[in-house]
Amino acid sequence: MPKLSAEKRRVREHTLSAPLIDPFQRTINYLRISVTDRCDFRCAYCMSEDMSFLPKSEVLSLEELERLSSTFVRLGVKKLRLTGGEPLVRRDIMHLFRGLSRHLKSGELEELTVTTNGSQLTRFADEMADLGVRRINVSLDTLDPHKFAAITRWGKFDKVMAGLQAAKQAGLKVKINTVALKGVNDDEIDRLISWCGDEGFDLTFIEVMPMGDIGSVERVDQYLPLTQLRAGIEEKWTLNESDHKTGGPARYVEVMETGQKIGFITPMTHNFCESCNRVRLTCTGMLYMCLGQEDAADLRIPLRESDDDAVLEAAIREAITRKPKGHDFIIDRDHKQPAVGRHMSVTGG
Ligand code: SAM
Ligand code: SF4
Repeated sequence: MPKLSAEKRRVREHTLSAPLIDPFQRTINYLRISVTDRCDFRCAYCMSEDMSFLPKSEVLSLEELERLSSTFVRLGVKKLRLTGGEPLVRRDIMHLFRGLSRHLKSGELEELTVTTNGSQLTRFADEMADLGVRRINVSLDTLDPHKFAAITRWGKFDKVMAGLQAAKQAGLKVKINTVALKGVNDDEIDRLISWCGDEGFDLTFIEVMPMGDIGSVERVDQYLPLTQLRAGIEEKWTLNESDHKTGGPARYVEVMETGQKIGFITPMTHNFCESCNRVRLTCTGMLYMCLGQEDAADLRIPLRESDDDAVLEAAIREAITRKPKGHDFIIDRDHKQPAVGRHMSVTGG
Protein backbone atom coordinates (compact mmCIF):
# COMPACT_ATOMS: atom_id res chain seq x y z
CA MET A 1 0.00 0.00 0.00
CA PRO A 2 1.46 3.50 -0.86
CA LYS A 3 2.59 5.74 2.04
CA LEU A 4 -0.06 8.28 3.07
CA SER A 5 0.60 11.97 3.74
CA ALA A 6 -0.02 13.19 7.32
CA GLU A 7 -3.21 14.98 6.18
CA LYS A 8 -4.55 11.92 4.39
CA ARG A 9 -3.73 9.82 7.45
CA ARG A 10 -5.63 12.22 9.68
CA VAL A 11 -8.70 12.14 7.39
CA ARG A 12 -8.47 8.39 7.21
CA GLU A 13 -8.21 7.91 10.95
CA HIS A 14 -11.25 10.14 11.39
CA THR A 15 -13.13 8.11 8.76
CA LEU A 16 -12.26 4.93 10.58
CA SER A 17 -13.39 6.20 13.94
CA ALA A 18 -16.60 8.02 12.90
CA PRO A 19 -19.62 5.84 13.62
CA LEU A 20 -22.15 4.90 10.95
CA ILE A 21 -25.09 7.30 11.32
CA ASP A 22 -27.98 7.32 8.86
CA PRO A 23 -29.98 10.35 7.62
CA PHE A 24 -32.50 9.87 10.45
CA GLN A 25 -29.75 10.03 13.11
CA ARG A 26 -29.93 6.30 13.85
CA THR A 27 -26.55 4.76 14.69
CA ILE A 28 -25.97 1.56 12.75
CA ASN A 29 -24.26 -0.92 15.06
CA TYR A 30 -25.86 -4.23 14.10
CA LEU A 31 -25.10 -6.28 10.99
CA ARG A 32 -26.97 -9.41 9.96
CA ILE A 33 -25.21 -11.58 7.43
CA SER A 34 -27.02 -14.14 5.34
CA VAL A 35 -24.12 -16.51 4.73
CA THR A 36 -26.08 -18.73 2.32
CA ASP A 37 -29.50 -18.62 0.68
CA ARG A 38 -29.69 -22.43 0.84
CA CYS A 39 -31.53 -24.38 3.49
CA ASP A 40 -32.24 -27.95 4.54
CA PHE A 41 -35.88 -26.99 5.32
CA ARG A 42 -38.60 -25.51 3.09
CA CYS A 43 -40.82 -23.66 5.58
CA ALA A 44 -44.14 -22.88 3.94
CA TYR A 45 -44.13 -19.16 4.87
CA CYS A 46 -40.50 -18.67 3.83
CA MET A 47 -39.90 -20.61 0.64
CA SER A 48 -41.73 -22.43 -2.09
CA GLU A 49 -40.99 -26.15 -2.26
CA ASP A 50 -39.18 -25.88 -5.60
CA MET A 51 -36.94 -22.92 -4.71
CA SER A 52 -34.07 -22.13 -7.01
CA PHE A 53 -30.88 -20.99 -5.33
CA LEU A 54 -27.96 -18.83 -6.36
CA PRO A 55 -25.19 -20.47 -8.35
CA LYS A 56 -22.24 -21.08 -6.01
CA SER A 57 -20.04 -18.91 -8.26
CA GLU A 58 -22.00 -15.81 -7.19
CA VAL A 59 -21.58 -16.43 -3.49
CA LEU A 60 -18.77 -14.68 -1.59
CA SER A 61 -16.09 -16.90 -0.07
CA LEU A 62 -15.92 -17.18 3.71
CA GLU A 63 -12.74 -15.10 3.61
CA GLU A 64 -14.56 -12.35 1.71
CA LEU A 65 -17.46 -12.45 4.17
CA GLU A 66 -14.97 -12.17 7.01
CA ARG A 67 -13.23 -9.18 5.45
CA LEU A 68 -16.55 -7.43 4.87
CA SER A 69 -17.84 -8.15 8.38
CA SER A 70 -14.55 -7.06 9.93
CA THR A 71 -14.78 -3.76 8.06
CA PHE A 72 -18.21 -3.18 9.58
CA VAL A 73 -16.78 -3.95 13.02
CA ARG A 74 -14.09 -1.32 12.46
CA LEU A 75 -16.87 1.12 11.57
CA GLY A 76 -18.58 0.61 14.91
CA VAL A 77 -20.75 -2.47 14.43
CA LYS A 78 -21.01 -4.15 17.84
CA LYS A 79 -23.28 -7.04 17.04
CA LEU A 80 -23.01 -9.60 14.24
CA ARG A 81 -25.70 -12.18 13.57
CA LEU A 82 -25.09 -14.99 11.08
CA THR A 83 -28.28 -16.12 9.41
CA GLY A 84 -29.50 -17.39 6.05
CA GLY A 85 -30.96 -19.62 4.56
CA GLU A 86 -29.64 -22.00 7.13
CA PRO A 87 -26.25 -20.63 8.21
CA LEU A 88 -25.07 -23.91 9.75
CA VAL A 89 -25.42 -25.85 6.49
CA ARG A 90 -22.81 -23.69 4.74
CA ARG A 91 -19.65 -25.77 4.30
CA ASP A 92 -16.88 -24.91 6.79
CA ILE A 93 -19.05 -22.27 8.48
CA MET A 94 -17.05 -22.64 11.71
CA HIS A 95 -14.13 -21.11 9.81
CA LEU A 96 -16.10 -17.84 9.65
CA PHE A 97 -17.12 -18.07 13.32
CA ARG A 98 -13.44 -18.62 14.18
CA GLY A 99 -12.33 -15.61 12.14
CA LEU A 100 -14.96 -13.32 13.61
CA SER A 101 -14.49 -14.45 17.18
CA ARG A 102 -11.15 -12.60 17.28
CA HIS A 103 -13.18 -9.35 17.41
CA LEU A 104 -14.90 -10.65 20.55
CA LYS A 105 -11.53 -11.30 22.12
CA SER A 106 -10.28 -7.83 21.22
CA GLY A 107 -13.44 -6.28 22.71
CA GLU A 108 -14.34 -4.46 19.47
CA LEU A 109 -17.36 -6.71 19.01
CA GLU A 110 -19.88 -7.20 21.81
CA GLU A 111 -21.83 -10.09 20.39
CA LEU A 112 -21.50 -12.80 17.76
CA THR A 113 -24.67 -14.77 17.35
CA VAL A 114 -26.72 -16.89 14.97
CA THR A 115 -30.29 -17.55 13.89
CA THR A 116 -30.74 -21.20 13.01
CA ASN A 117 -33.42 -23.79 12.41
CA GLY A 118 -31.59 -26.01 14.92
CA SER A 119 -30.95 -28.94 12.59
CA GLN A 120 -27.15 -28.82 12.92
CA LEU A 121 -26.80 -27.84 16.58
CA THR A 122 -25.71 -31.27 17.76
CA ARG A 123 -22.66 -30.81 15.52
CA PHE A 124 -21.82 -27.21 16.28
CA ALA A 125 -23.17 -26.06 19.66
CA ASP A 126 -20.00 -26.86 21.63
CA GLU A 127 -17.67 -25.23 19.13
CA MET A 128 -19.80 -22.09 18.90
CA ALA A 129 -19.80 -21.79 22.69
CA ASP A 130 -16.00 -22.23 22.73
CA LEU A 131 -15.68 -19.43 20.18
CA GLY A 132 -17.56 -16.96 22.35
CA VAL A 133 -21.15 -17.28 21.10
CA ARG A 134 -23.38 -16.76 24.14
CA ARG A 135 -26.94 -16.57 22.83
CA ILE A 136 -28.58 -18.15 19.82
CA ASN A 137 -32.02 -17.86 18.21
CA VAL A 138 -33.64 -21.10 17.15
CA SER A 139 -36.73 -21.01 14.97
CA LEU A 140 -39.47 -23.38 16.04
CA ASP A 141 -43.11 -22.83 15.18
CA THR A 142 -44.69 -25.87 16.80
CA LEU A 143 -44.13 -28.63 19.35
CA ASP A 144 -46.24 -31.08 17.37
CA PRO A 145 -44.03 -33.32 15.19
CA HIS A 146 -46.76 -33.69 12.53
CA LYS A 147 -47.32 -29.96 12.26
CA PHE A 148 -43.56 -29.45 12.26
CA ALA A 149 -43.30 -31.75 9.23
CA ALA A 150 -46.11 -29.86 7.49
CA ILE A 151 -44.64 -26.40 8.18
CA THR A 152 -40.99 -27.13 7.44
CA ARG A 153 -41.73 -29.74 4.72
CA TRP A 154 -38.22 -31.23 5.01
CA GLY A 155 -37.34 -30.72 8.69
CA LYS A 156 -36.70 -33.51 11.21
CA PHE A 157 -38.34 -32.64 14.55
CA ASP A 158 -36.24 -35.03 16.67
CA LYS A 159 -33.02 -33.61 15.27
CA VAL A 160 -34.05 -30.08 16.26
CA MET A 161 -35.05 -31.23 19.75
CA ALA A 162 -31.67 -32.95 20.16
CA GLY A 163 -29.98 -29.79 18.86
CA LEU A 164 -31.75 -27.67 21.46
CA GLN A 165 -30.56 -29.96 24.24
CA ALA A 166 -27.00 -29.79 22.83
CA ALA A 167 -27.19 -26.00 22.87
CA LYS A 168 -28.39 -26.04 26.47
CA GLN A 169 -25.61 -28.39 27.51
CA ALA A 170 -23.04 -26.21 25.79
CA GLY A 171 -24.24 -23.34 27.96
CA LEU A 172 -25.78 -21.33 25.10
CA LYS A 173 -28.73 -19.14 26.02
CA VAL A 174 -31.56 -20.04 23.66
CA LYS A 175 -34.34 -17.85 22.35
CA ILE A 176 -37.08 -19.59 20.39
CA ASN A 177 -38.47 -17.67 17.40
CA THR A 178 -42.03 -18.60 16.52
CA VAL A 179 -43.84 -17.20 13.50
CA ALA A 180 -47.52 -16.78 14.38
CA LEU A 181 -49.51 -18.69 11.77
CA LYS A 182 -53.28 -18.43 11.67
CA GLY A 183 -55.00 -21.80 12.00
CA VAL A 184 -51.65 -23.58 12.30
CA ASN A 185 -50.01 -22.83 15.65
CA ASP A 186 -52.43 -20.36 17.26
CA ASP A 187 -53.81 -23.21 19.42
CA GLU A 188 -50.32 -24.01 20.76
CA ILE A 189 -49.31 -20.67 22.20
CA ASP A 190 -49.86 -21.61 25.87
CA ARG A 191 -48.01 -24.88 25.38
CA LEU A 192 -45.07 -23.07 23.81
CA ILE A 193 -44.97 -20.59 26.71
CA SER A 194 -45.02 -23.39 29.33
CA TRP A 195 -42.44 -25.48 27.48
CA CYS A 196 -40.07 -22.51 27.09
CA GLY A 197 -40.57 -21.74 30.80
CA ASP A 198 -39.65 -25.35 31.69
CA GLU A 199 -36.61 -25.40 29.39
CA GLY A 200 -35.37 -21.95 30.40
CA PHE A 201 -35.75 -20.57 26.87
CA ASP A 202 -36.97 -17.09 26.04
CA LEU A 203 -39.57 -16.88 23.32
CA THR A 204 -40.30 -14.38 20.58
CA PHE A 205 -43.34 -14.32 18.35
CA ILE A 206 -43.02 -12.90 14.84
CA GLU A 207 -45.69 -11.64 12.46
CA VAL A 208 -45.49 -13.19 9.04
CA MET A 209 -44.10 -10.70 6.51
CA PRO A 210 -44.98 -10.46 2.81
CA MET A 211 -41.57 -11.39 1.41
CA GLY A 212 -40.95 -13.47 -1.70
CA ASP A 213 -43.15 -15.74 -3.74
CA ILE A 214 -44.11 -18.82 -1.70
CA GLY A 215 -45.99 -20.68 -4.42
CA SER A 216 -49.68 -21.39 -4.07
CA VAL A 217 -49.84 -20.48 -0.34
CA GLU A 218 -51.72 -17.21 0.42
CA ARG A 219 -50.06 -14.85 2.93
CA VAL A 220 -53.38 -13.44 4.02
CA ASP A 221 -54.39 -16.94 5.11
CA GLN A 222 -51.21 -17.22 7.24
CA TYR A 223 -51.24 -13.75 8.77
CA LEU A 224 -52.13 -13.56 12.46
CA PRO A 225 -51.70 -10.08 14.00
CA LEU A 226 -49.75 -10.27 17.26
CA THR A 227 -52.17 -7.83 18.91
CA GLN A 228 -54.72 -10.66 18.69
CA LEU A 229 -52.23 -13.29 19.85
CA ARG A 230 -51.17 -11.15 22.82
CA ALA A 231 -54.76 -10.58 23.90
CA GLY A 232 -55.18 -14.38 24.04
CA ILE A 233 -51.99 -14.78 26.09
CA GLU A 234 -53.15 -12.12 28.55
CA GLU A 235 -56.28 -14.11 29.33
CA LYS A 236 -54.11 -16.90 30.79
CA TRP A 237 -50.84 -15.35 31.88
CA THR A 238 -49.81 -12.25 33.80
CA LEU A 239 -47.59 -10.11 31.61
CA ASN A 240 -45.46 -7.25 32.86
CA GLU A 241 -43.96 -4.76 30.42
CA SER A 242 -40.18 -5.15 30.41
CA ASP A 243 -37.51 -2.72 29.30
CA HIS A 244 -35.29 -5.66 28.28
CA LYS A 245 -33.41 -4.90 25.04
CA THR A 246 -31.28 -7.16 22.86
CA GLY A 247 -30.47 -4.67 20.11
CA GLY A 248 -33.10 -6.28 17.86
CA PRO A 249 -36.65 -5.25 16.94
CA ALA A 250 -38.56 -7.24 19.60
CA ARG A 251 -40.48 -5.59 22.44
CA TYR A 252 -40.51 -7.71 25.59
CA VAL A 253 -42.83 -8.59 28.43
CA GLU A 254 -42.10 -10.78 31.41
CA VAL A 255 -44.39 -13.72 32.20
CA MET A 256 -44.87 -13.54 35.96
CA GLU A 257 -45.79 -17.25 36.29
CA THR A 258 -42.61 -18.56 34.57
CA GLY A 259 -40.19 -15.65 34.98
CA GLN A 260 -39.25 -15.86 31.30
CA LYS A 261 -39.40 -13.13 28.69
CA ILE A 262 -41.65 -13.08 25.68
CA GLY A 263 -40.81 -10.84 22.76
CA PHE A 264 -43.11 -9.58 20.03
CA ILE A 265 -41.77 -8.67 16.60
CA THR A 266 -44.56 -6.73 15.01
CA PRO A 267 -43.53 -5.29 11.65
CA MET A 268 -47.16 -5.31 10.53
CA THR A 269 -49.18 -4.08 13.51
CA HIS A 270 -46.54 -1.79 15.01
CA ASN A 271 -43.85 -0.33 12.87
CA PHE A 272 -40.54 -0.66 14.72
CA CYS A 273 -38.47 1.26 12.17
CA GLU A 274 -37.90 4.41 14.21
CA SER A 275 -35.29 2.67 16.34
CA CYS A 276 -33.76 0.54 13.58
CA ASN A 277 -30.01 0.05 14.09
CA ARG A 278 -29.57 -2.74 11.54
CA VAL A 279 -28.38 -3.40 8.03
CA ARG A 280 -28.27 -6.72 6.20
CA LEU A 281 -25.67 -8.28 4.01
CA THR A 282 -26.44 -11.10 1.58
CA CYS A 283 -24.08 -13.92 0.67
CA THR A 284 -23.38 -12.19 -2.66
CA GLY A 285 -22.29 -8.97 -0.97
CA MET A 286 -25.47 -6.93 -1.45
CA LEU A 287 -26.11 -4.62 1.48
CA TYR A 288 -29.81 -4.03 2.19
CA MET A 289 -30.38 -0.98 4.32
CA CYS A 290 -33.96 -2.09 5.08
CA LEU A 291 -35.55 -5.55 5.20
CA GLY A 292 -38.72 -4.20 3.62
CA GLN A 293 -37.28 -2.15 0.71
CA GLU A 294 -35.57 -3.13 -2.54
CA ASP A 295 -32.69 -0.63 -2.52
CA ALA A 296 -29.28 -2.25 -1.98
CA ALA A 297 -25.61 -1.44 -2.40
CA ASP A 298 -23.35 -3.91 -4.18
CA LEU A 299 -20.32 -4.27 -1.88
CA ARG A 300 -18.85 -7.12 -3.91
CA ILE A 301 -17.55 -4.58 -6.44
CA PRO A 302 -15.42 -2.50 -4.02
CA LEU A 303 -14.51 -5.68 -2.14
CA ARG A 304 -12.96 -7.25 -5.23
CA GLU A 305 -11.75 -4.01 -6.83
CA SER A 306 -9.17 -3.22 -4.20
CA ASP A 307 -7.34 -4.69 -1.22
CA ASP A 308 -7.53 -1.27 0.42
CA ASP A 309 -10.30 -1.36 3.03
CA ALA A 310 -10.73 2.42 2.67
CA VAL A 311 -12.50 1.79 -0.66
CA LEU A 312 -14.86 -0.63 1.05
CA GLU A 313 -15.45 1.74 3.94
CA ALA A 314 -16.38 4.56 1.55
CA ALA A 315 -18.90 2.27 -0.18
CA ILE A 316 -20.43 1.29 3.17
CA ARG A 317 -20.71 4.92 4.29
CA GLU A 318 -22.38 5.86 1.01
CA ALA A 319 -24.87 3.01 1.44
CA ILE A 320 -25.79 4.16 4.96
CA THR A 321 -26.74 7.60 3.58
CA ARG A 322 -29.45 5.72 1.63
CA LYS A 323 -31.04 3.97 4.62
CA PRO A 324 -34.78 4.69 4.32
CA LYS A 325 -37.04 5.74 7.15
CA GLY A 326 -38.93 2.42 7.16
CA HIS A 327 -40.73 -0.36 5.35
CA ASP A 328 -44.16 -0.40 3.69
CA PHE A 329 -45.40 -3.90 4.46
CA ILE A 330 -49.12 -4.55 3.91
CA ILE A 331 -50.95 -7.87 3.91
CA ASP A 332 -54.55 -7.89 2.72
CA ARG A 333 -56.69 -9.33 -0.05
CA ASP A 334 -55.93 -6.34 -2.33
CA HIS A 335 -52.17 -6.87 -2.11
CA LYS A 336 -51.50 -10.19 -3.79
CA GLN A 337 -47.87 -9.48 -4.61
CA PRO A 338 -45.22 -9.65 -1.86
CA ALA A 339 -44.05 -6.19 -0.67
CA VAL A 340 -40.53 -7.19 -1.66
CA GLY A 341 -39.71 -9.86 -4.21
CA ARG A 342 -36.82 -11.47 -2.39
CA HIS A 343 -37.34 -14.17 0.19
CA MET A 344 -36.48 -13.77 3.86
CA SER A 345 -33.74 -16.38 3.28
CA VAL A 346 -31.87 -13.92 1.02
CA THR A 347 -31.47 -11.17 3.59
CA GLY A 348 -31.93 -13.35 6.66
CA GLY A 349 -34.42 -12.91 9.48
N1 SAM B 1 -32.90 -20.79 8.73
C1 SAM B 1 -32.76 -20.02 9.88
C2 SAM B 1 -34.00 -20.08 10.73
O1 SAM B 1 -35.04 -20.54 10.25
O2 SAM B 1 -33.91 -19.66 11.88
C3 SAM B 1 -32.36 -18.57 9.65
C4 SAM B 1 -33.01 -17.86 8.51
S1 SAM B 1 -34.76 -17.62 8.64
C5 SAM B 1 -35.10 -16.74 7.16
C6 SAM B 1 -34.85 -16.40 9.93
C7 SAM B 1 -36.19 -16.19 10.57
O3 SAM B 1 -37.08 -15.63 9.62
C8 SAM B 1 -36.84 -17.46 11.09
O4 SAM B 1 -37.20 -17.25 12.44
C9 SAM B 1 -38.07 -17.60 10.22
O5 SAM B 1 -39.11 -18.19 10.94
C10 SAM B 1 -38.35 -16.18 9.84
N2 SAM B 1 -39.11 -16.00 8.59
C11 SAM B 1 -38.89 -16.55 7.37
N3 SAM B 1 -39.78 -16.08 6.47
C12 SAM B 1 -40.59 -15.21 7.13
C13 SAM B 1 -41.68 -14.39 6.75
N4 SAM B 1 -42.15 -14.35 5.51
N5 SAM B 1 -42.25 -13.61 7.70
C14 SAM B 1 -41.80 -13.61 8.99
N6 SAM B 1 -40.75 -14.36 9.41
C15 SAM B 1 -40.16 -15.15 8.49
FE1 SF4 C 1 -34.99 -22.41 5.98
FE2 SF4 C 1 -35.19 -20.71 8.01
FE3 SF4 C 1 -36.56 -20.28 5.73
FE4 SF4 C 1 -37.28 -22.28 7.28
S1 SF4 C 1 -37.33 -20.11 7.82
S2 SF4 C 1 -36.99 -22.38 5.05
S3 SF4 C 1 -35.38 -22.94 8.12
S4 SF4 C 1 -34.39 -20.24 5.96
